[in-house]
Amino acid sequence: MQRYSVFALARRAFDDHTSWGRAWRDATPKRSYDTVIIGAGGHGLATAYWLGKRFGITNVAVIEKGWLGGGNTGRNTTIIRSNYLQDPSAAMYEKSRALYETMSQDLNFNVMFSPRGVMMLAQTEHEVRGYQRTAEANALQGVSTEFIGPNRVKELCPIIETKGPRYPVLGALWQPRGGTARHDAVAWGYARACSDMGMDIIQRCEVTGVRSEGGRVTGIDTTRGQIDCKQLAMVVAGSSSVLADMAGFRLPIESVPLQALVSEPIKPCMDVVVMANTVHGYMSQSDKGEMVIGGGTDGYNGYTQRGSFHHIEETVRALVETFPMISRLKMLRQWGGIVDMTGDRSPIISKAPIEGIFLNCGWGTGGFKAIPGSGWAMAELMAKGTSPLAEPFSLSRFQEGRFIDESVAAGVAH
Ligand SMILES: Cc1cc2nc3c(=O)[nH]c(=O)nc-3n(C[C@H](O)[C@H](O)[C@H](O)COP(=O)(O)OP(=O)(O)OC[C@H]3O[C@@H](n4cnc5c(N)ncnc54)[C@H](O)[C@@H]3O)c2cc1C
Repeated sequence: MQRYSVFALARRAFDDHTSWGRAWRDATPKRSYDTVIIGAGGHGLATAYWLGKRFGITNVAVIEKGWLGGGNTGRNTTIIRSNYLQDPSAAMYEKSRALYETMSQDLNFNVMFSPRGVMMLAQTEHEVRGYQRTAEANALQGVSTEFIGPNRVKELCPIIETKGPRYPVLGALWQPRGGTARHDAVAWGYARACSDMGMDIIQRCEVTGVRSEGGRVTGIDTTRGQIDCKQLAMVVAGSSSVLADMAGFRLPIESVPLQALVSEPIKPCMDVVVMANTVHGYMSQSDKGEMVIGGGTDGYNGYTQRGSFHHIEETVRALVETFPMISRLKMLRQWGGIVDMTGDRSPIISKAPIEGIFLNCGWGTGGFKAIPGSGWAMAELMAKGTSPLAEPFSLSRFQEGRFIDESVAAGVAH
């Protein structure tokens, strides 16, 4: 791997930057691998990265039906935070947030992590009590958050209208080291590091079947031929139920479209991330100047990677109330992804009912922030058969009624 540095940049200036090589190899599938990971989104690639980095497992293929990060990983609004209520979630999301802090250095790839601070507005008395409770829980979990009043909210984000009209801002849950990162770069950085370790990243290769014998996985069928493997990880977000169906089991997952939009670019006016969960909208400003806006999921299941018009309207209407100045902005573009929702709004990192198959899914509307930690835990589970970070998120919690209820922290889109 050619290392990226200021010296490398200066050296390439002599040949007008024509001598840079490819960041990762475009691999052709082999007949067999020790481990196959389906899905080259952030979670699949992070799993591959930590398998190699922590456990020296490198006979790995990551199989992707489209292009790298072309699923939800390249479609999200990039919010990173760890202010969850339940202990297992706080542990997972804080591990991830901490890994984001050093990701650019670890991968030698600038993922543009920007810990600019995230605030979740409290706009009803109920939310005030809820977020105060979360701040107390976070203090016990070692997650740095605080409940702040409306004056501090206005100080941190002057463009907010704190006084109404329908829902005045009564305070906010503030996480100063939350923020954003460049989503494609996270996928690209991991892909480059995995390729460097000798792993095959195979794009435009759709998995069409899962093979097993005597209750044990033996391989997959793909549009580019059959591939045998000893271990198979399904990391396909909104397509999780479809893949599970190919393997012959069912998952407690519903697939729902979630959309986002950006405005035309404007001068810097907001250097924090704001989430307004009562009116249901959230906003940050990208480095290009666009206001990045997201809202809620569609109210029905679906597999279309686009959203419904009434949702854009509702989200924008809600945000105009809190940020009146955006009423003058034009929408530049809109897109959608298919998110994988569980009943308790917590993910599944687990062994599957078929020996050798592992699942990483159910991140729903909030899995971008979890990519590094999820990969860390999933790799441990696959390499050692157990992982303390992943254990609470096993599939068996749905049989045992051991839910990790994050419907308040994670039921919102973010
Ligand atoms: C509009 C929107 C906004 C969001 N905002 C945020 C946010 O601000 N913060 C946050 O933390 N999270 C957010 N999320 C959620 C986050 O994007 C996801 O939870 C996360 O990206 C999931 O990553 P993944 O790697 O599991 O899935 P994906 O990135 O979707 O990767 C799965 C891959 O599997 C591939 N695949 C599927 N089926 C097959 C097959 N049969 N064969 C081969 N490959 C297959 C797909 O093509 C895809 O590339 C948002 C999501 C959306 C849609």
